[in-house]
Amino acid sequence: MTVDYKKGPNEVLPQLTRIEDPVDIYRSLGVEPAITASGNTTAFGGSKLRPEIMDVMNKASGVMVNLADLNKQAGKILADLTGAEAGLVTGGASAGLTLQAAACIAGNDSSKMSRLPDVQGLNNEIIIQKSQRFPYDQCYRIAGAKLVEIGDGRRCHPWQLEAAFTYKTAAVAYLQAPFYSRLALPLEQVCEIAHRHGVPVIVDAASMLPPRGNLSRYSQLGADMVIYSGGKGVRGPQGTGILCGKSELIEAASANSSPNQFLGRPMKVAKEEIVGLIAALQIFTQEDENAETKCYLEMSQHISESLTPAAGLKVTIEHDQYNYLIPTTVLTFGSEYEGPSRDAILERMATGKPPIFLHFIGNPNELAIDPINLNGEEVEIIIRRLNQEFKK
Ligand SMILES: *Cc1c(COP(=O)(O)O)cnc(C)c1O
Repeated sequence: MTVDYKKGPNEVLPQLTRIEDPVDIYRSLGVEPAITASGNTTAFGGSKLRPEIMDVMNKASGVMVNLADLNKQAGKILADLTGAEAGLVTGGASAGLTLQAAACIAGNDSSKMSRLPDVQGLNNEIIIQKSQRFPYDQCYRIAGAKLVEIGDGRRCHPWQLEAAFTYKTAAVAYLQAPFYSRLALPLEQVCEIAHRHGVPVIVDAASMLPPRGNLSRYSQLGADMVIYSGGKGVRGPQGTGILCGKSELIEAASANSSPNQFLGRPMKVAKEEIVGLIAALQIFTQEDENAETKCYLEMSQHISESLTPAAGLKVTIEHDQYNYLIPTTVLTFGSEYEGPSRDAILERMATGKPPIFLHFIGNPNELAIDPINLNGEEVEIIIRRLNQEFKK
């Protein structure tokens, strides 16, 4: 369906609520639906919300409640499902990062909280390994944090961490993410050292689910606060995050957060989003992970067996605890390979019709097909389009 913008204002947009075919909702807005094989990438749609969740959210949206009560009760359920002492639903994992920093810098003290991001007189240094600097670390700086880098970007020694603590240290940040964590000091060791200095460790594990074991793993290793995205592997509302950790810190994060009128107020989470996230996490934690993994493996096997690239392009299925968290088809462009370049294929897939977004954040000579957001029909389209590209 296309829209004729020359018509009168009332005819410009067909009433979205009356459109039957889901893809036509976006087409009527002039946006072409895409296929996302890059994983749960926010820029390419995030994830596919669990269909049951919209129902619960719809029902919950018409009932009024005191948000403080809802946050408290939701927090108890998050604590239960993550094995941490306490929890808080945040406005995405990004907002959770800002709240982690705010909690460590200003605690639960209204006079301090009201001053953020002005940190005069507050201890605002957050230590981070240089190899773990990442675009989202600006979310810490929003709260007034000053990042103190340690290590040279490739390695970091325990003594470098030891030497970085000052009276102004508020926290040590740790990024747990594919392609970022292998060069870093192990989380356990970071926690041991930080705790000896009386400093909390805050972890960004936004994209580490599934596997479900990661929901409790980092707290068990000693992390004081951990953030996960609610809109990625959990497939809850796109704009939610799961913050869990030590009671005192979560209370401080909550105090800094919406609906309270402090730094976190712009990162509002609606009552129905809180309900939707809890519902999604309940389903996520009860699902059969072995069956799910087998399904991703079969999809990936089918893809890898159906691709016909030129010699020198290796097709493998990768699945490990560091980088490819579910069975994923990986294309490795070897030195002998003479077909279209990796970047050309990435670009042509993304600009074709439908746009197909491949996974490219791995090694520079790799492209991958992450099955987490794909259905069988989309898999066939990807195979067909990739085989066409290989021939060019
Ligand atoms: C996706 C991601 C975030 C942001 O998560 P949102 O829930 O989209 O806000 C933060 N950190 C890392 C490492 C991520 O992968």
